[in-house]
Amino acid sequence: MRPWKILRMIPFSIQKVFFYGYWKGKMKMLGCLFCQMASHEKPVKTLYEDDRCLVFEDINPQAPVHLLVIPKKHISSLNDAGDGDRELLGHLLGVAARMAKEKGIDGSGYRTVVNTNAEAGQTVFHLHIHVLGGRLLAWPPG
Ligand code: 5GP
Ligand code: ZN
Repeated sequence: MRPWKILRMIPFSIQKVFFYGYWKGKMKMLGCLFCQMASHEKPVKTLYEDDRCLVFEDINPQAPVHLLVIPKKHISSLNDAGDGDRELLGHLLGVAARMAKEKGIDGSGYRTVVNTNAEAGQTVFHLHIHVLGGRLLAWPPG
């Protein structure tokens, strides 16, 4: 069956919801700095890359080692990660641990941080894990 015939079988109200959601997601991604880095549209010095994620140094480091682990998939924040993203989230944490080892801070200790929304200080709305280490990190955080 031709695709447009299948489309005609779906009520317009349902089509609208689907297309609105699709374009809303696309528009968010278009203006997203980390999506641009993940696709190399914006040049970035990557320390690690695979089919699902990218690691690079934070532009404004808060510790001698301050890396960002980002998924290639656009997820605005941890609030927007679904059940289908569980494996991806586990992968990001695994990569964070591997990078900490590579940077030699696995033994001394490091912190992995995911800021979510305004009061936690999230400024880039594309999920990312901060990996901080190389100095004594105070607790509780400010
Ligand atoms: P958030 O505040 O959302 O938890 O973390 C965003 C982080 O991205 C900040 O630590 C900020 O310094 C970093 N950042 C923002 N813009 C850039 C950039 O263009 N390049 C790099 N490498 N890091 C960035
Ligand atoms: Zn994004």
